Amino acid sequence: MKQILLSTPHMGSSELEFVQEAFETNWIAPVGPHVDAFEQEFCQVTGARHAAAVSSGTAALHLALQLVGVEYGDEVFCSTLTFAATANPIAYLGAKPVFIDSDRTTWNLNPDLLREALFHRARIGKLPKAVVVVHLYGQSADIDPILEACHQYDIPLIEDAAESLGATYKGRSPGIFGRIGIYSFNGNKIITTSGGGMLVCEEPELVAKARFLATQARDAAPHYQHSQIGYNYRLSNVLAGIGRGQLRVLSERVAARRRNFEIYASALGNLPGIKFMPEATFGKATRWLTCLTIDPEAFGANREQIRLTLAEQQIESRPVWKPLHRQPVFAECQSIGGEVAEDLFEHGLCLPSGSNLSTEDLERVIDAMVAIHHQKGA
Ligand SMILES: *Cc1c(COP(=O)(O)O)cnc(C)c1O
Repeated sequence: MKQILLSTPHMGSSELEFVQEAFETNWIAPVGPHVDAFEQEFCQVTGARHAAAVSSGTAALHLALQLVGVEYGDEVFCSTLTFAATANPIAYLGAKPVFIDSDRTTWNLNPDLLREALFHRARIGKLPKAVVVVHLYGQSADIDPILEACHQYDIPLIEDAAESLGATYKGRSPGIFGRIGIYSFNGNKIITTSGGGMLVCEEPELVAKARFLATQARDAAPHYQHSQIGYNYRLSNVLAGIGRGQLRVLSERVAARRRNFEIYASALGNLPGIKFMPEATFGKATRWLTCLTIDPEAFGANREQIRLTLAEQQIESRPVWKPLHRQPVFAECQSIGGEVAEDLFEHGLCLPSGSNLSTEDLERVIDAMVAIHHQKGA
């Protein structure tokens, strides 16, 4: 039986030509015309002002935190319901994440909790150095109230839009609202360069600084002089070629993932105990992953029983992210709320969601889910 995976790369028709061009011109380096063009085209697609292509979304976050001034011992507020890569770079800098719970309607950072937490921190004179908001599973967080709260205390907002390229918030791309936004092109994201990331920002000086830090922080001297510690974080010109091809099919990829969601929702939405991740009214989600929550009493099986039964049938599914405040590595960190994220983790499952799934693949997943309900439930 063919294995159905959660989310796999889906190349279009022009990626290979761009890669070939890189070979023919011998631009096999972390610099070159595809890198420049990928940055420009990325700005056109997202509406970002300036962009720097880097080797991963994690690298982009690491640079972003540094660019807004996060240092050793600082605190950074951060969504708790996310992949560890959101918070790891906070730890790279020796800063401390403080995790903030989700709200039920978006599954993303709860703006009210953030506002209250900042108000309280301002009163005791302990404001965080930055806020990192995640746009989860293809859906934007409610950016306006989050930005407003950050502006009130003059705290830079970093947007982790790694999972939400192609989504909208009030008609615009999540990732371009905060001081800095980041995206990922890892293998399972909506478009991929195998590995890669992008940092976007309105301020040209900050993006120039990002490129400087990403290329070992070389001073303007012929003899390789350095006055700061830098990184080797630039994206390869070969991979930027893949990215240029992928950008051309982004809207098709969004449509295909939304179609997966529609098919799942119409086939499974009426089963007792199943609720799909809601789509917030302020924008359009990409449905990067189709996520649902399961009430085990009503459905007849819990999330883990479903996941294991699907796995026996060669169908990969995955629990919703384990909240970072519950991760052993962040056990010492403070958390503001957390019950909503814990509940979503406890009951939440992500179904196979690739843009290259066939109708037969989707039917196999649907039939398996229905069979689990009939066998274990009723
Ligand atoms: C994938 C991901 C990242 C990291 O991106 P990489 O390119 O894999 O380093 C960061 N944050 C979130 C929410 C992600 O899903």
